[in-house]
Amino acid sequence: MPSHRTAAVISIGDELVLGQTLDTNTRWLASRLTDLGVRVVEHATVEDDAQRLAALFARLSAEVDLLLTTGGLGPTADDLTRTALAAFLNERLVTDEASLAEIRAWFEGRGRAMPETNSVQALRPESARSLTNPNGTAPGLLATDPRGVLIACMPGPPHEMKPMFEASVLPEIRPPDDRTIVTRVLHTFGYGESEVASRLGELMARTASPSVGTTASTGVVSVRIRHEGEGSCEDAELAVERMAETVRDKLGVAVFAEGSRTLEEMIVGVLRERRDTLAVVESCTGGMLGQTLTMVPGASDVFVGGWITYSNEQKTKLVGVSKETLEAHGAVSRQCCHEMAAGGLERSDADHCLAITGVAGPGGGTDEKPVGMVWIGLASRGMKPDIRCFRFKGPRDIVRLWSARTAMAMLRLRMINTTMKLLGEDADAR
Ligand code: AMP
Ligand code: MG
Repeated sequence: MPSHRTAAVISIGDELVLGQTLDTNTRWLASRLTDLGVRVVEHATVEDDAQRLAALFARLSAEVDLLLTTGGLGPTADDLTRTALAAFLNERLVTDEASLAEIRAWFEGRGRAMPETNSVQALRPESARSLTNPNGTAPGLLATDPRGVLIACMPGPPHEMKPMFEASVLPEIRPPDDRTIVTRVLHTFGYGESEVASRLGELMARTASPSVGTTASTGVVSVRIRHEGEGSCEDAELAVERMAETVRDKLGVAVFAEGSRTLEEMIVGVLRERRDTLAVVESCTGGMLGQTLTMVPGASDVFVGGWITYSNEQKTKLVGVSKETLEAHGAVSRQCCHEMAAGGLERSDADHCLAITGVAGPGGGTDEKPVGMVWIGLASRGMKPDIRCFRFKGPRDIVRLWSARTAMAMLRLRMINTTMKLLGEDADAR
C-alpha cells in the first residue's frame, strides 16, 4: 500500500467563510499531520455548497494522497458533506444501520427520542465507512476514491472532531516511512523573542539540523526543535535531545516547560511538589489569574482562592490596604501592591500571595502612570516580598493576560530559588 505523503485539509461551513467562526480545526489537523510526517500542501475553506465541495474533492484528490474535511455533517439542510462526497464518488447514499442505531442510542441516553431529521446523519456513500462519534450525533465518513486517495470527513465541533481523528482516522493514515520526524518544544518566559533569538544565535540558521525556530504568544516564547530527514529514529531522537540540551544551556532559567505544558500547569505542578498553597489579590486582571490557575485540573490542591479588589474601597475593606497609602501613592503603586500581597497572605493562610494592580487601558493613563504600567507583588511566608513594576505594551486584553502570566513567572522564580529580570520589567521604578 502506498503511503500518504501529502495531504490537504478542507473546512466546510458558511460561518467560516463569512468570518463568524475562526477555523481552528484546520490548524489542529495540519499540526497533527505534520507531527506524523505527512506534508500538508493546502488548506481550503468552503461555504455550505455541495457542488463547490464536490469540485474541491475532485481538484484536491488529483493532487494529494489524503484529504481531511471537517464540518457539514449535521442534520440540517445546510449540512452537505455526505451529499458532496457521494456526488464526487458517483455513488448513491445508503443508510448505515449501525450508525442509525448509535444516533438513536445517543438521544435515548439523554432521555429523548431521536428526531426524524437526524436519520439523515446515518447516510453514507455506498463504499464509504461510517466512523463512530462518542461525543455527538454526527458520524464521520471514511472513503477511498478510485485513485486510492483516502478521504476522511469529520464533524465540525472541535470536541467531536479531535477524538474521532485520534480513534478512527489516525489508524488509517500511513505516514511515509522513509522519513523520520522528531520534534521537541521548549517554552520560555521572561525574554522577548528577539532576545531568545540572539541567545540561540547560530542555532537558528535556516540550514541548521535539527532546525530551531521560535514562536511568541503573549510572553511565552516557544522554541521548536525539529529533525526531518532520512536515518534512524534513535539517531534523530539523540540529535534532537542534544540540541534541546544546548538550547536549555543558552536560555537557562527562562525555560519553564516542554511539550504541551502551560505556564499555569507548571505553576500548579511546582506548588504541589512543594506542598505550598497560593492566594491571589487581583485588581486590573479582575480574576484572570485565578481563572487561569483553576483551568488546571487539581488546582484545588494548591490554590485557596482570593479577592478581586477592583475599587480602592474594596482594596481597603477586603485586604486592608490603608487609606493613607491610597491617598499618598494611588492604587497603582509599589506601596499599594505590597499591602495587597501582604494583606492577602495574612488573611488567607496560604504560603504565597500574588497581587496585581495596574492600568490596563485604553483610558486611565497619566504621564506618571501610563497605560500598561502594572505592579505585581509576591508575598511569601518568612520571605522578603518581591514587588516589581512592569510596562507592558498593547491593548487591554494583552496587558491583562501578560500581567497574569508575569505574576505566575515571578512565583515560579521564587519557588525555584532564583531570579531574572522579566520582559517589560522597569527595575528603576520606585
Ligand atoms: P457542523 O459539523 O458543520 O454542523 O459544525 C458545527 C459547529 O462546529 C459550527 O457551528 C462551529 O461552531 C464548529 N465548527 C465547524 N467547523 C469548524 C472549524 N473549522 N473550526 C472550528 N470550529 C468549527
Ligand atoms: Mg455547518
